[in-house]
Amino acid sequence: MDALLVVNAGSSSLKFQIFGIAGAGLDLQVKGQIGGIGTRPRLQAKAVDGAVLVDRNYEAEAVGDLPAAIAAARDWLLTLGGFTLRAVGHRVVHGGPDYAEPVLIDATVLERLASYQDLAPLHQPNNLAPIRQAMAINPDVPQVACFDTAFHHGHPEAVNCYAMPRQFYDEGVRRYGFHGLSYEYISRHLREVAPQVVAGRVVVAHLGSGASMCALKDGHSIETTMGFTALDGLPMGTRPGQLDPGVVLYLILQRGMNAQAVSDLLYHDAGLKGLSGVSNDMRDLLASADPHAELAIDHFVYRCGLNAGMLAASLGGLDAFVFTAGVGENSAPIRARIAEKLAWLGAELDPGANEAGDTLISTPSSRVALYVLPTDEELMIARHTLALLNSRQA
Ligand code: ADP
Repeated sequence: MDALLVVNAGSSSLKFQIFGIAGAGLDLQVKGQIGGIGTRPRLQAKAVDGAVLVDRNYEAEAVGDLPAAIAAARDWLLTLGGFTLRAVGHRVVHGGPDYAEPVLIDATVLERLASYQDLAPLHQPNNLAPIRQAMAINPDVPQVACFDTAFHHGHPEAVNCYAMPRQFYDEGVRRYGFHGLSYEYISRHLREVAPQVVAGRVVVAHLGSGASMCALKDGHSIETTMGFTALDGLPMGTRPGQLDPGVVLYLILQRGMNAQAVSDLLYHDAGLKGLSGVSNDMRDLLASADPHAELAIDHFVYRCGLNAGMLAASLGGLDAFVFTAGVGENSAPIRARIAEKLAWLGAELDPGANEAGDTLISTPSSRVALYVLPTDEELMIARHTLALLNSRQA
């Protein structure tokens, strides 16, 4: 079977999916990951029917870093029969100021993507490692980069600049926005589910362990809550969201923290985890009796309401609001509390539909339609990869 491999490489996990190419369509065949890289490495993969294809633990030293994880995944993937690999689609966090679309990777593109490492030092090197490795192993198989920033590309300068001296904008200090593959997927999905809505003013809330919101006008991003990095905007599992830069100065100048310590704090120990002192996982917070867990939830809901209002202002009103990602797709109580914050815009939740996890969870009289739509960033990558493959062959 002709197939596409989708790769999503982070610092502690490498996720992959195999899609069969069926004419112009795609069928998910295998879904897997290596998690716990450097701590408790574990390779797991399942077929689409849920059958376990592999579940293997490794010594921490055996899969101590991402290249080792890529090698382990590759070794296992090579044992899988029945697939003829036609292309590999990679999730790449940063497309810099240049890329508005997915791109077929060659040496020049790779060099340019590597030059964005300064813009996303924690993510970009991880994303590029499997590309380099796949290009070395399979030089004839096309590799496609799909960017988290691309969907937000083209925001006017007044929207994507910071009030900083010009030179910083020119060297790339801009509000790029992220989660673009998720928003693109939702925007297309919404076109099928509610074509009457997509032409209007829509806010999508991607509420996972990373969280952001995006304002869509006629299906296109016009504003988003993340900025230069994925630290900005909403509070997240371990990131604080919007923070006065004066706090960072305080940490460095008064507390004597070095850059690495500040970075670790902001990426790994802040957000719901830091504020609650209980957990970064919304499920744990909802189940906890600790008042700090309640505070963290209150803060999250409050900031979601505030940011939704900001994005509604960017759109000049609101016709629909979409919940997606881990919290947005699964937590009826959090959806209900955020919906309450949208009441002033005319949103009216249907509690029964919300509890049931229906696609449409607002009442018929609600002025803002409320939706729950599952996102699928990997499928979006696969679609882009197939489209580029087909255009190359045409
Ligand atoms: P990622 O950003 O890692 O892709 P997800 O979109 O999968 O994350 O979201 C993961 C988060 O979703 C978890 O950390 C958890 O907080 C939250 N989550 C998942 N299921 C539920 C649930 N039933 N109730 C509340 N939160 C949930």
